[in-house]
Amino acid sequence: MMKIAIIGAGAMGSLFGARLASLAEVWLVDAWAEHIEAIRRDGLRLINLDGSIWQVSVKATTDPAAVDDPVDLAIIFVKSYQTAQAAAWAAPMLGADGLALTMQNGLGNLEVMAEVLGAERCVQGVTSHGATLLGPGQVRHAGAAATYLATRPSIDARVRRIAELFTRAGFETHLSDNLDSLLWGKLVINVGINALTAILRVRNGVLAEVAPARALMDAAVDEAVAVAQALGVTLPYADARARTREVALATAANRSSMLADVLRGFPTEIGVINGAIVREGARLGIPTPVNQTLVWLVQALEATTAARVLAGGG
Ligand code: NAD
Repeated sequence: MMKIAIIGAGAMGSLFGARLASLAEVWLVDAWAEHIEAIRRDGLRLINLDGSIWQVSVKATTDPAAVDDPVDLAIIFVKSYQTAQAAAWAAPMLGADGLALTMQNGLGNLEVMAEVLGAERCVQGVTSHGATLLGPGQVRHAGAAATYLATRPSIDARVRRIAELFTRAGFETHLSDNLDSLLWGKLVINVGINALTAILRVRNGVLAEVAPARALMDAAVDEAVAVAQALGVTLPYADARARTREVALATAANRSSMLADVLRGFPTEIGVINGAIVREGARLGIPTPVNQTLVWLVQALEATTAARVLAGGG
């Protein structure tokens, strides 16, 4: 049986953990003590897409040293600003043939993991599943679509086993030797939607409907497309503006993850989303003033949670 440590047991880590638990030996590792205690006490409660509810027994710990290593696979599902820490936790757990997989959003997580673990042990994935945490020990599967794992000859047999396991767990998984198109396809849409919904404090659909918000979304997306083109990345859609609007409308009632983070006073993933466009743009000599402004605004929001003036407040 494959042995898996999921480092970062938030919404996505919990979803994957719950569905893999009967097919592999799974450990959930997360610093959020209340959540881990609830899982240890009552199991992990998963609300599936069809409304069925599973109460899953799965090993969970706040202490990475408690995982009885070695593991075959470490799935990194923390937020991007914790990726280096998660990789450091994974390092002593990984067996000689162990692999570390990221399916996080944004650009640069794989590179951060590779610095800690060595590039030969790191694997990029992209998943279009969605999940929402309902509270400690409770997660809802919010959306399903294909998952892709990047393979290469030196690790192909192992990646194939992981893809087969994921598929059996209900995450239809395909292999690819170039995930840039899919990774950037998600990134460009996140660039358009996430920061603006967090700044404006609106649900996704508003961005497609309110003209000045749409103009900002289009401008941020245009810069991201220019950077992608300069890098030689072919996006999985022809018209990025239209695709981003479509996604905003298709998810009109959703709160983006960045909005959710800002509302709960947590750090955001701005650095690997709009921040990645600014960084790559600077390297390539492509101006990204709109994304730079969005980065500064979100960073300013993160730094001023306690100073927020509320309507009707003093
Ligand atoms: P998440 O916010 O649910 O969890 C991230 C971390 O925050 C976890 O370590 C969790 O324990 C902690 N946390 C969450 N709520 C908390 C609370 N109330 N109190 C204390 N700690 C709390 O993150 P996620 O949505 O699972 O995202 C993980 C990665 O996967 C990110 O890179 C994200 O971009 C990516 N991703 C998310 C989704 C999704 O639908 N959620 C989809 C695809 C990719």
